[in-house]
Formats: sequence, C-alpha cells, structure tokens
Amino acid sequence: MLTSIQSKLIVWFLTVFSIVLIGLGFFLDYQLSEIVIGSVDSHLNSEVQFIAGLLRVEQQQGPLETELLEFSQAAVGEYSVALSGHYYQIVSSNGKLLVRSPSLAIPNASLPIEAESLTPSYKTIVGPEKTPLRLLNQSFQLPTGVLTLQTAESLEESYKLLGSFRKIILIVFPVLFIVSGIGIWMMIDLSLRPLELFSKQIGQITEKNLNERMDERSAARELRPLAVSFNTMLGRLEAAFSKQGQFLSDASHELRTPTSVIKSYCDVTLGKERTPSEYQEALRMIATNVDRMTDIINRILEISRFDSKTFSWVTVEVDLLDVMNDACKLLEASASSRKIALRLNGVKTTVRADRERLTEALLNIVDNAIKYNRTGGRVEIDVTRAGPWAVVTVTDTGIGIPDIDRQSIFDRFHRLADGRDLAAGSGLGLSITRAIVEAHGGKIDVQSEVGKGSQFRIFLPAVAP
Ligand code: ADP
Repeated sequence: MLTSIQSKLIVWFLTVFSIVLIGLGFFLDYQLSEIVIGSVDSHLNSEVQFIAGLLRVEQQQGPLETELLEFSQAAVGEYSVALSGHYYQIVSSNGKLLVRSPSLAIPNASLPIEAESLTPSYKTIVGPEKTPLRLLNQSFQLPTGVLTLQTAESLEESYKLLGSFRKIILIVFPVLFIVSGIGIWMMIDLSLRPLELFSKQIGQITEKNLNERMDERSAARELRPLAVSFNTMLGRLEAAFSKQGQFLSDASHELRTPTSVIKSYCDVTLGKERTPSEYQEALRMIATNVDRMTDIINRILEISRFDSKTFSWVTVEVDLLDVMNDACKLLEASASSRKIALRLNGVKTTVRADRERLTEALLNIVDNAIKYNRTGGRVEIDVTRAGPWAVVTVTDTGIGIPDIDRQSIFDRFHRLADGRDLAAGSGLGLSITRAIVEAHGGKIDVQSEVGKGSQFRIFLPAVAP
C-alpha cells in the first residue's frame, strides 16, 4: 500500500497519463489508416470510373469481344507490368472473366470474382503472391449489358507507412511517458518541500517551548490555514499547560497552610510539658486542620477526575425540590449555629441528574450563602420553572461580592482578596459546582451587591411535567 502523497500522486498521474497516451495512440492509428485506405479507395474509384467511361465509348464502335481485346492490349503503365500491385478485371453478368490487366497475366493470379453490385463495394483481400490488396467491385449498365469492373491496388506501401507511424508512436510515447513521469516526480517533490519544512518546525515544539509559534506569513499559501490552526491549538495547549501548572502550585499552596499550622502546633505543644486540656486543645486544632486538608484533597481529586473525564454519572429523574430539601437538612445545624434563617420554597420540578453530584453542587452554593452571611441573616431558596429550565435561586443577606470578582469566583482556587477567606474555604467549591451544572447541560449566574447580599441562580434542563 502506498503511504506517501508523492507516490500516490505519481501513480495517479502515470495511470491517467498512460490511459490518455494509449487512447491517443489508438485514435491516431485509426485516423491514419482511415486516411491512407481512404486515399487508396478514392484512387480505385477514379480508375473504375475511367475504365467504365472508356468501355461506354468503345462499345459504340464495335462488338464487345473485339473492344475488350483492344482494351486489354491498350493497357499501359502499372497495369502492364506483371504483379505490379495495380490490377483490374472485367466480368460479364454471368460471372465470366472477360478481361484482366496484363499485370495479372500469370497463372492463378486473377482477382476473386465478386457478385454484381451497382454501388461501389470495397474490401481488403489477399492477392497474388499473398500481398494485401484493396479491391473495388462495381457493376455498370452498358449498352451491351451489365459488366462488373474490378480494380485492385496493393496495400503494401500503405501498410509500410502505417507501420513506420506505429514505430514512431511506440518510441515517442514511452519516452514522453518517462520524461513526464520524471518531471512530475520532481515537481511534486519540490511542491512538498514546504510541507517537510513545516513538519520539521512542528517537530521542534515540545512542552518546553509551547510559547513558540509557526510563522504564518512565511508559510506557503496552501499551508497557511494549517499554520493558523496549529498556532491556535498551540495557544490552547499552552493555556491548558499553564492552567495545570497554576493548579498544581495553588494546590500545594493551599495544602501548605494547614500542614504548617499542624507543624507549628506540634512544635509548640511538644516544646514543654503540657496539661491534658492543652494537649486536647492542640489535638482539636490538628484535627480541624486535617479535616480542611482532607476537604481540599477530596476536591482536588474530584477536579482531576472531572478533567480526565473518568467520572461515571448515574442520571435519573429527580425532584429538584426534594434534593434541595435534603441539602437544607444537612446545613440546618451550621445555619442555626450562626442564627441564620434557612428557608426553602418552590414546586416539584423534575430534572434528569446524578443525584449525588447535583446535591454536592447545590450544597456548595447554600453552604457559601451561610458561610459568607452575617450572623442573624437569611438564606432564601426557591425552586421554580422558567420555560425549559428548572431554576434554583439562592439569595443571601451576606457580605456580597464586588463586581470585579463576579466571574472569577468560579475559577479554581479563587478567593476574594478581603478577609473573608479566613472562613475555612478552599476556593474550589464554585468551580466544582459550575463543572457539575454544565455537565448536566445547565448554567449558573450570580448577582450581588457588596454589603447587601448575593443571589446565585442555577438553571438545569427541566423534564416536561
Ligand atoms: P470557598 O471554599 O472559598 O468558599 P468557593 O469556590 O465556594 O470557595 O467560593 C469562592 C469565593 O467566592 C469564596 O472564597 C468567597 O470569597 C466568594 N463567595 C462565594 N459565595 C459567596 C457568597 N454567597 N457571598 C459572598 N461571597 C461568596
């Protein structure tokens, strides 16, 4: 199997070219034979007409036999030389050979006697000495009755001419075939060179120099779209790589804080003899930080599973109000510890979802609404339907989010620059929530006013009631 473009192109070209050449060869050969045989035929025809004209004139002057005898004796030129390749003969209406040209005056050399035909009939036969002959047979109505005139001419010369022409074709065409094959090979080679150069440049790009780009302007015109697409892909790869690098450094940074807290607690506590309650306090702090680390690690794991798409979803029809109800129950304790009123309103709204993942996404939102709320505040949750969407609206009376951070809060490890991140958050919750919501075909938005509160809306495709 041919794998290179060059070999494929050359094979295609040579196949088409050889078909064209063979076709052309046959066509030219056919045309030339038509012309050569046609000219022999027209010569034979004029000879027959000439003989017929002579017979008409001479028959008016005497009996047929005498006239024919005189006629044969009067034959001159090629017709008088034996086996010259130019013959004629005259046949009576009852098929009797009346006269033949002196060129046929040797034993068994007569032309085959053909049936009467008032229209000229041509045919190629094998004549005396096995030479190919072109024969014209035509009958004429003369005053003394019907006579059939036959003239014949050797085709040897014509065949020689055709033979030389075929020889020329058989030499010229293969030479043409080889020369154009080599020419096309070189042309294709030359045209594919920019592609080789292009692939060499691509080959030099590794993960270490992802910031390099192909020179689109100097690329051949046909390769320019490829260079543009390749550069776009490089751009995306570079962004993904740096995002991954950023994620790694953010993750290590997040994990460093609780580990250094644990380390310093251990150092301080072990620095001298402590009372049992001091040890208990130290262990409690360590446990809190371990919980935080576990939370961060779990979230990182979840995100990496999202990224590598190794998540298995179990989607079933679930009632969004029911899911929200469960989420509220889980968060009731933390809300009441901060004296925050948690209220859920709405109607039964069915969506197709992975219940566990969806609960996690909604928990993140409500948990934030409690976490970033003021003591004694409110969190209102509404489950409604809006056209094709099932909508969950979570409104809080919390500290709000500045305009500038409104979109970036959904980015990984993004936490606001003010003091709120003291609340044990990882900055991963909203990015996970958005990924889950989008994986369900939904979307999420936020409206907020600093100092007054925020409103998150989650839209999920609703199942028709
Ligand atoms: P975290 O674990 O820090 O809460 P999230 O991804 O859930 O991470 O949230 C990102 C940041 O967005 C939070 O650190 C917080 O600053 C801000 N934020 C999220 N929800 C609210 C809210 N309801 N009110 C005010 N700020 C919020």
